[in-house]
Amino acid sequence: MTRMLIVGPPGAGKGTQSKKISEEHGIIAISTGDIFRENIKGQTELGKEAQKYVDAGNLVPDSVTNRMIEDRLTWDDAKDGFLLDGYPRNRTQVAAFDEITSRLDVELDVVLELTADREELISRLVRRAEIDGRADDTEDVIRHRLEVFEQETAPMIEEYRQRGVLKQVDGLGAVEEVGARIAEALKA
Ligand code: AMP
Repeated sequence: MTRMLIVGPPGAGKGTQSKKISEEHGIIAISTGDIFRENIKGQTELGKEAQKYVDAGNLVPDSVTNRMIEDRLTWDDAKDGFLLDGYPRNRTQVAAFDEITSRLDVELDVVLELTADREELISRLVRRAEIDGRADDTEDVIRHRLEVFEQETAPMIEEYRQRGVLKQVDGLGAVEEVGARIAEALKA
């Protein structure tokens, strides 16, 4: 398994688990959310373009995001494998990602979905807000991000399920427990 996506609602633990998977499989973890946040912090052109969307919990326009990820995937460190966290995020991005992988002549091995129920997610995100102080971790924005997930991202995950590449893992529980479930699912 060298080319993977990790998907799931905000707060499901994608970032934490990505780091573990990336170390265990020796592949680079690329988070579109992290890239946007770094660019916003540095006030780059990309950051300025993305900021109002990220702060409001809306998706950054597909054209911007698709271009950014295609560029990122051509770097040397992604040549032999990658784990994408937070991309694709809707059906349009899935279509763009299909084209990108075909241009790069690589194939997606697996899409790992972390599941968790809505109330658990909200309480996790509110807790994370207290620790990290992310601008988009206020309760209103959190609820909005969950709605965006349900409306735009969930149908995209269904698309991967139909393609037969989806593996679902229960994201509820301690980091180590969820990590063990993921390792098991990736072996199967
Ligand atoms: P995340 O850290 O994955 O929750 O992403 C934080 C924010 O970055 C999201 O609420 C969006 O505003 C933006 N973002 C991250 N990934 C994408 C994407 N694939 N498409 C559009 N916007 C994204």
